[in-house]
Amino acid sequence: MKAIIKKTKGRKGVVLENVSEPSIGVNEIKIKVHGAGICGTDIHIIQDEYPYDAPVIMGHEYSGIVVEAGIGVEDFLPRDRVVSLTAISTCGTCSYCRQGLLMLCNERKSIGSGVNGAFAEYIVVPAAAAYKIPARVSMDAAVLTEPLACVVRCVMERGQVNAGDLVIISGPGTIGMLALQVAKANGGNVVVTGTAKDKDRLKLALELGAYAVINFEEEGSYEKLMSLTNNKGFDVAIECAGVEASLNSCIQLLRKQGTHIQMGLFGKKVEFDSDLALMKEIHFINGYATEPTSWEIALRLLEFNHVKVEKLISNKVSIYHWEKALELAINKVGYKTIIIPSLNEV
Ligand SMILES: [Zn+2]
Ligand SMILES: [Zn+2]
Repeated sequence: MKAIIKKTKGRKGVVLENVSEPSIGVNEIKIKVHGAGICGTDIHIIQDEYPYDAPVIMGHEYSGIVVEAGIGVEDFLPRDRVVSLTAISTCGTCSYCRQGLLMLCNERKSIGSGVNGAFAEYIVVPAAAAYKIPARVSMDAAVLTEPLACVVRCVMERGQVNAGDLVIISGPGTIGMLALQVAKANGGNVVVTGTAKDKDRLKLALELGAYAVINFEEEGSYEKLMSLTNNKGFDVAIECAGVEASLNSCIQLLRKQGTHIQMGLFGKKVEFDSDLALMKEIHFINGYATEPTSWEIALRLLEFNHVKVEKLISNKVSIYHWEKALELAINKVGYKTIIIPSLNEV
């Protein structure tokens, strides 16, 4: 089968190769990959900024169809439509594993970095890590279950948005657009901010339910934002850009005892006004990947249309054109770029 493999350091260490199909073990299922999204983490792996065990097939955001169920598998049959957890190999005995906090296990290995992932025609995962896709959710939409589950983890499981809350989201990329919809589903009134280059993204934010959008770089944007809260400040800020200035704006724009939710990764150390956060008694929340409950909630949000992802799927590219797909993702063209292993070379 065709697979995109990170073999050695650097961009040149990523190759498309023909490898043998993965074989199935006890309690495992073999999945034909429908599509796999390119995520910021994949870009970090390519640039050697995120840990990986080479050689490894990349890709962790995917949907697919079961083609074979191993001995011991009772819950899945061939033709079932599925997604799966990313942390599929853990010790199973540490205190975090026992609490279901798989991503915090020291032994955690995730698909696409520690074990073979979904930029391939087939993937094998433990059946216990898989979830059936509800009938009303398309295979394309289900590719975004993983990033949506990350948002659920941060915004609903670690953080909280209450009905009526004034919420500000900084960074209108894929994660920001998902956070907007999750905050809104929880009853928040959401304002989305971006920069001049985000004009189209801010327009989509309005379509997806933001009650206002503001270009951060425009003169008087701080005053405008504060006036949207009657100068009281926001109850919740969700930082999705991973930009130092945006983090500091969030702390400034929050009300006293407001909640800051850090979703964006900065990729480096940043400075922020800790004393201001202290004097305002800001609750500082973040989240690392997902836990099994995040997936159940994410699929429910998709099933009942609280979160719409179709407009966030910008580019669908055959695996043969994987270099073009990576280019689109690295240059942030649109939102999500999805690699389709079954699309023929054209
Ligand atoms: Zn991801
Ligand atoms: Zn563990």
